[in-house]
Parts: sequence; structure tokens; C-alpha cells
Amino acid sequence: MMYAAGQTKIHCPCCRNDTFDKDYRQLNSRGATFFGLDWVNRNATILVCKRCTYIAWFMDDLKELE
Ligand SMILES: [Zn+2]
Repeated sequence: MMYAAGQTKIHCPCCRNDTFDKDYRQLNSRGATFFGLDWVNRNATILVCKRCTYIAWFMDDLKELE
């Protein structure tokens, strides 16, 4: 799958490939939830390059392209 951030199609900075696997990772630490700071708990979007496995991180969700 190919993705875009806003109007910009994403290419791998390592190998210039444009197909990725998308996944999500939590940015928080457990301590934030314990102290009631749930606003700290955010999911980051990650794209893993299908050719070289480079991982790109994004704070917002990404648009999927055909
Ligand atoms: Zn790559």
C-alpha cells in the first residue's frame, strides 16, 4: 500500500520505495496512565518500508492511496 501525508506521497528516504506496511505504536509510558494523565497516551502511525524495512514515524494518521 502507498500512503500520503497531506498532499505529499510518502517515499522511503532510504531506498525511494513507495510501498509500506502501516502499523500503530503507543508513545506513552505506563506511569502516565497510573497518574491519570491519559492525554499523554497517543498512538503514533508507523510505516515500514516493504523493500528495506526502514521505519517512518508520524503523529497523525495517513491517507491510503490506490
Ligand atoms: Zn526503503
